[in-house]
Amino acid sequence: MTARLIDGKALAQQVRARIADDVARLHADHDVVPGLAAVLVGGDPASKVYVGMKKRASEAAGMHSRVEILPEQTTQEDLEALIVALNEDDAVDGILVQLPLPDHLDPRRVQELIVPAKDVDALNPYTAGRLAIGDPTFLACTPYGILELLAHAGVDAAGANVVIVGRSNLVGRPLSVMLTLKGRDATVTLAHSRTRDLAAVCRSADVVVAAVGVPGLITADMVAPGAVVIDVGTNRTDEGKLVGDVDFEGVSEVASAITPVPGGVGPMTVTMLLQNTLEAARIRRGLPPR
Ligand code: NAP
Repeated sequence: MTARLIDGKALAQQVRARIADDVARLHADHDVVPGLAAVLVGGDPASKVYVGMKKRASEAAGMHSRVEILPEQTTQEDLEALIVALNEDDAVDGILVQLPLPDHLDPRRVQELIVPAKDVDALNPYTAGRLAIGDPTFLACTPYGILELLAHAGVDAAGANVVIVGRSNLVGRPLSVMLTLKGRDATVTLAHSRTRDLAAVCRSADVVVAAVGVPGLITADMVAPGAVVIDVGTNRTDEGKLVGDVDFEGVSEVASAITPVPGGVGPMTVTMLLQNTLEAARIRRGLPPR
């Protein structure tokens, strides 16, 4: 079998075009332009690249974009003061704090401070708690993008056995919650570094999601024939090449559909940040989310 490619780049373009239309309509009908504020502390090169991507994407969608750059030595107090100011700024609909923060800063306290109405990265524990009890809330961008990719690929999660490898608060754990909510109805196994016989666990899956950070961890012998494989991993090889957690060549021979790296989950993550910012702008003004 040669797997069908689930093209995240193409889907991201489609969804971003629809978001741009919605933003234009929001402006025309309600004189509202959604605003996204990104906070970057220090000069981590990868973080700069990610913030730049988010800025360009939000501007391309017709949103206001603002990047607050704080020096590496910023104190927790100063960072928290900035978050409070952004919470109160009416032109800001979504706030994201680019991770990782320098070691002396406490990301959890910062995330807790972002008002839930502007928590477009969905990392505030309050937002995560609402998700866990099935209340409407912003969805963390990477798992949200994975839901969109699965829907686009025609994968019905209801009743499917989904194995997610990786239990981080950023990807694996929220995705496991989203997929097990009523209405999505998947049966989820959340695997991690202490999982016994990972290969056998993965072979039991209709859908395997790899969110680990180990290049090539998921090999063809770990995937059931016809399974769908979503590769979240973003790893740089010594040669500077971007690779996922899945042995793409081998697994493509077994799976029915697979996301590439790059061009799979990554573009959808930024796209869902835009979607959340649009929703935040609407909800803050009493309009129904799109
Ligand atoms: P993380 O916080 O480091 O979590 C990694 C998870 O993988 C942990 O749960 C860990 O288990 C598990 N793990 C590690 N080695 C394992 C092994 N050999 N077998 C089974 N499980 C293992 O990572 P993350 O933030 O979720 O990110 C995961 C990957 O996704 C990274 O490559 C990251 O760059 C990428 N990522 C991509 C996007 C995107 O938009 N494309 C977004 C976010 C992350 P324990 O809990 O037991 O330690």
